[in-house]
Amino acid sequence: MSHVRVRFAPSPTGFFHIGSARTALFNWLYARHTGGTFVLRIEDTDKERNSEAFLNVIYDSLTWLGMTWDEGPKVGGNFGPYRQSERTEIYREYLAKLTAAGRTYEKDGAIWFKLLGERYEVFDEHRKKTVTKVKTEPTVIDDQIRGRVERVEDEDFVIFRSDGNPVFHFVNVVDDIAMQITHVIRGEDHLSNTSKHVELFKALGAPVPQFAHIPLILKQNGPGKMSKRDQGALVEEYQRRGYLPEALVNFLSLLGWNPGDDREKMPIAEIIRLFDLPGVNQSNARFDDKKLAHMNMAYLLEQPADRFVSLARDYFSRQTENPAAQAALAADPAYFREVMLLSQPKIKGVEELPAYTAYFFTEDFAIDAKVRDKVLGKGDPQARLRELIEALPAFDLSSDTAIEEGIKSLATAKSLGFGDYQSVARLALSGTNVGPSITGMIRVLGRDRTLARFERFLASVG
Ligand code: GLU
Repeated sequence: MSHVRVRFAPSPTGFFHIGSARTALFNWLYARHTGGTFVLRIEDTDKERNSEAFLNVIYDSLTWLGMTWDEGPKVGGNFGPYRQSERTEIYREYLAKLTAAGRTYEKDGAIWFKLLGERYEVFDEHRKKTVTKVKTEPTVIDDQIRGRVERVEDEDFVIFRSDGNPVFHFVNVVDDIAMQITHVIRGEDHLSNTSKHVELFKALGAPVPQFAHIPLILKQNGPGKMSKRDQGALVEEYQRRGYLPEALVNFLSLLGWNPGDDREKMPIAEIIRLFDLPGVNQSNARFDDKKLAHMNMAYLLEQPADRFVSLARDYFSRQTENPAAQAALAADPAYFREVMLLSQPKIKGVEELPAYTAYFFTEDFAIDAKVRDKVLGKGDPQARLRELIEALPAFDLSSDTAIEEGIKSLATAKSLGFGDYQSVARLALSGTNVGPSITGMIRVLGRDRTLARFERFLASVG
């Protein structure tokens, strides 16, 4: 086991979004790549903004994505408790340490961290007031992704508010020390905090961890950072829509990282093997929901039959208000399975399935008027349907190829083509002109249902 210890440290102040999931993933990947430990720490000191519901969303989303944590809430570990709201004692101890070292003072009821250096007063144009500055050397951050970053930290800052609550910078650093974190991998928005953190590490006599600030995720359209309010930003939305977690993980891994070649779809074991911090890009990554949908489709396509059918069944079961989904669930499970497998190569996402397969599960499906007019306007489709009705009882329906043979020999006998039968058959069976292969439809619907639909269609068009 390596000594690498990384942590994902979310604040449960909102839904779990793509950016958080990506930060969690990069930490998790680094832990798995190095054989290190992945810690989940909940930064819930801001009591007003935290909620238990948001906490559960974090646990559920991480679990759904397969990012299991080695230490943290629910699983425990030697460095707990793992919720900051339960670590008040520890923060008091570290504060005492800092005070003993002469690095704190009280002002206006708050406790301040004291930087080392000569103090001087200066009028701050921006804040329109006189502030006390400290003459300091720039703090150097040797960032694994950004490279060498220098920042001047020249103002003391509050570490305990007047209400007695500790400030983010302080608890974040204390916990990284107490939990023996070796690598801090987090969003680039925290880079501006890092000089404060480095000064705190030093003042507490602790080794400074390696920092790796990962690039921002830009919103799909337009400039700026993707926010929780942007469409497609919430992880649970993808779960609800029946996305495959491994597709989302693969997609997230490419938001700011690449395997060094132009491969995109990769099994997780391969991503773990190749992932490393120097491979993370400095430039920002742009969110692209089409790319995600495409990735999901690629994963769906290769799902083994059993898993695909169970994914579909799970999704349909959640569509309690959708009559098409409920009708499908009420059907014979073997028939449901055949319909889903027939549709698997044709859909982009599981969420399309209820509408895409609806006519398989009801005789009361609508006939698209435009498609009907178009199909009926060419040749003699009614005659073709009558021929099919006559020939079908003798067809071998055991396989798509056998059915294709049947239609082809019928067409040859009439000096026509396969296509002359296909569109009218499809229209009669489904009411539309899109769907799975016609031979697959006939096989799955079966002889009786197929014949009944052909007859009914003929009767309806007169
Ligand atoms: N609680 C902080 C956040 O959610 C964590 C910052 C860090 O990873 O150090 O942004």
